[in-house]
Amino acid sequence: MRPRPARAEPVRVVEDSNMATVAKAASAAVATCPILINGERRESAGRTEVQINPSTGQPSSMVPYCTPEEISEAIGAAQEAFSLWSAMPVLNRARILFHYHAILEKNADRIISLNTEENGKTRSESQGSFQRGLECVEFACGAPTLLMGETADHVGGDVDTISVRAPIGVCAGITPFNFPFMVPLWMFPLAIACGNTIVMKPSPAVPRSTVLAVELLYEAGLPAGVVNVVHGAKDAVDAILNDPRVKAVSFVGSSAVARYIYKTAAANGKRVQALGGAKNHSIVMPDCDMKLAVDSVLASSFGCAGERCVATSVVVAVGEAGDTFIAELKKSVDKMRVAPGDEPGADMGPVITPEARKRIVGYIESGEKEGAKLVRDGRQDACNSQDGCFLGPTIFDHVKPEMKIAREEIFGPVLSVVRANDLDQALEIVNSTEQGNASSIYTRSGAAAKKYAATVQTGMVGVNLGVPAPVAIFPFAGWKASFFGDAHALGKDGVRFYTETKVITARWPE
Ligand code: NAD
Repeated sequence: MRPRPARAEPVRVVEDSNMATVAKAASAAVATCPILINGERRESAGRTEVQINPSTGQPSSMVPYCTPEEISEAIGAAQEAFSLWSAMPVLNRARILFHYHAILEKNADRIISLNTEENGKTRSESQGSFQRGLECVEFACGAPTLLMGETADHVGGDVDTISVRAPIGVCAGITPFNFPFMVPLWMFPLAIACGNTIVMKPSPAVPRSTVLAVELLYEAGLPAGVVNVVHGAKDAVDAILNDPRVKAVSFVGSSAVARYIYKTAAANGKRVQALGGAKNHSIVMPDCDMKLAVDSVLASSFGCAGERCVATSVVVAVGEAGDTFIAELKKSVDKMRVAPGDEPGADMGPVITPEARKRIVGYIESGEKEGAKLVRDGRQDACNSQDGCFLGPTIFDHVKPEMKIAREEIFGPVLSVVRANDLDQALEIVNSTEQGNASSIYTRSGAAAKKYAATVQTGMVGVNLGVPAPVAIFPFAGWKASFFGDAHALGKDGVRFYTETKVITARWPE
């Protein structure tokens, strides 16, 4: 599979569309998203671009692109705050996070609405990702236990050895558009619970959710400068990667950019965890519970409009499972209601931008050109005539593993079904993928599930479920080109990432 090139930024509406004209005309009426430096909300001096609401195509804010001075000031504020924050007893840091959790719950409706407005997800999807974000705070609240070291008594004459976990300093968090609230919460709660300070740089497509999440943290009593938020694109990221005061970088986004972040930050001596893109497979075995498989693949492939790094993008249907699966899936997908995310009863919202829609339509055209059988064409759905970035769910059958739609991350509501003769052939197809984020199998056979889990080369494995995103006590464990680094996000890996180990060997003779 060819690596996908880094996407051009900033996010803009296409020049020749009506939507662009409307967006430009209306942009004067919307507020500019603030930055947060040293605990203060203020306006950036940088240029601004329109952020659109994907459900309406209308501008919803102006996104600033921070100046180099602002990025440097944010890093300086984080560095300044580090000595006080890292010296604060871990129990006190955790107490602020407990308070934060309560404040988040109180503001749930506001956070969920903004998530849906910025990203286009349905309200119930935003509700789900809000809950997963809360779980990250809950995990970080365990810092007093998570940071406990180890002791070996009497390793020599009058000598004892203990290990402790120390914070590393100023960290940075760079996040994608697809989970505006949840993915930033993979990073800053745990980073600060471990005693670090951090600068967050959200995607310019969804800048306001991070600002809101961090403002609420200051309401919980966070000292100034511990978490800062800047905006921008490649320039802002490069300024962070090249600043020697930043000791560790957490990144989530596409594989091409993840690879670049890993290379650049590591070359500058920083610790890096760079979570990349995905091309996830689900194997449907002939002995499976077909209803469960169909419902689960539908949710996994078309939930969040397919813009989810654990979404099923390819189904490998084994033997006679194929025909029944396709027929049942099409029946269910035909009933889906594609509509603005805040409309009651919406099953699927829009994709993020007109450019994303155009890119996804390009993949559908390529599937047709390469000879896959188009079973359901999302371009024909009524939602396409609405304002906003709508595209219905699309299904291809008889896709060959070498076709572009089977190899590349589409990140939209397009599912490819590949046929295989048996589990071994299915596994070969799954393991030939360049990325290795997640995959799953549907079967009633314990032996098949066991063989699958032992042999598949993905870091997250589902058995009879389609979105095997682990809860926050486990790491988000992508493999191959889905992850660059050593310690993954969350779980014990996350604690290891945000801390240095210090081993103290002491002699106290009588
Ligand atoms: P993206 O890579 O375009 O952008 C991610 C972040 O990097 C943004 O903050 C963006 O401003 C910045 N960025 C973009 N181009 C850059 C460049 N050339 N140099 C430096 N920084 C740059 O990703 P996206 O489109 O926002 O998000 C979708 C991608 O994220 C998909 O590939 C998806 O699979 C992936 N993702 C992965 C996970 C995971 O856990 N592995 C989770 C969520 C999303």
